[in-house]
Amino acid sequence: MKCAAICLAAGQGKRMGSSVQKQFLLLNEKPVLYYSLKALQDSFIEEIILVVSENEIEYCKKEIVEKYSFSKVTQIVAGGKERYHSVFQGLTALQEAKPEYVFIHDGARPFIDQEILERGLKGVETYEACVIGMPVKDTIKIADEDGNCLETPARDRVWMIQTPQIFVYTEITEAYTQLIEAEKVNKSIPKVTDDAMVAEYFLQKKIHFVKGSYENIKLTTPEDLEIAKAFLKKQKK
Ligand code: C5P
Repeated sequence: MKCAAICLAAGQGKRMGSSVQKQFLLLNEKPVLYYSLKALQDSFIEEIILVVSENEIEYCKKEIVEKYSFSKVTQIVAGGKERYHSVFQGLTALQEAKPEYVFIHDGARPFIDQEILERGLKGVETYEACVIGMPVKDTIKIADEDGNCLETPARDRVWMIQTPQIFVYTEITEAYTQLIEAEKVNKSIPKVTDDAMVAEYFLQKKIHFVKGSYENIKLTTPEDLEIAKAFLKKQKK
């Protein structure tokens, strides 16, 4: 198999301040997660592993995967405490299929599209590891521990990172295995906030940037939902 995807939806979404997890909130009467899965289903990707909380597996199977005929979702697996635990569960579920490339995507990013996926595929074929992102629009400053400005990186070198993040399956699995092993033996590990940093840290892998879109937002806080509704209205999805 050439390409598989891991779609992550096992987060609690505490910053959304809603009783329903953000990936299941409705946008145009469909759950947020529907849009990510639809883009993956309609693409060249052959198999999708959906990662959700243990107690949401049945709901997702019936109300999302079966309801919308997402035939490429071959497994729905339980995620873990942190995002990186969920990614590891997804990678483990692909052990038998052993795809050449794996696309790791946040289910809470409903505006991924076919062009982004195509650019991601080209990126991984050329550079072996790549992340979708966009150059920042605002100036970014690094703060010191006291909340003062420490550094101002040149704006044209700063990117905000999105998903999917795309890797050679065997390599990212090796990096994640090392991360999980290190955690087990209480080795100090960096605070993991994306997949690329796992490959950077454990394999010293060079990661290429590939342009996503400014609409490929992650729904995190309540105002993101209003923005998402406006994007959907424009796209008439
Ligand atoms: O929490 P954050 O916004 O970084 O989550 C990004 C994505 O990772 C979301 O789609 C969320 O559902 C998923 N996630 C997960 N397992 C966790 C935490 C987050 O699958 N333990």
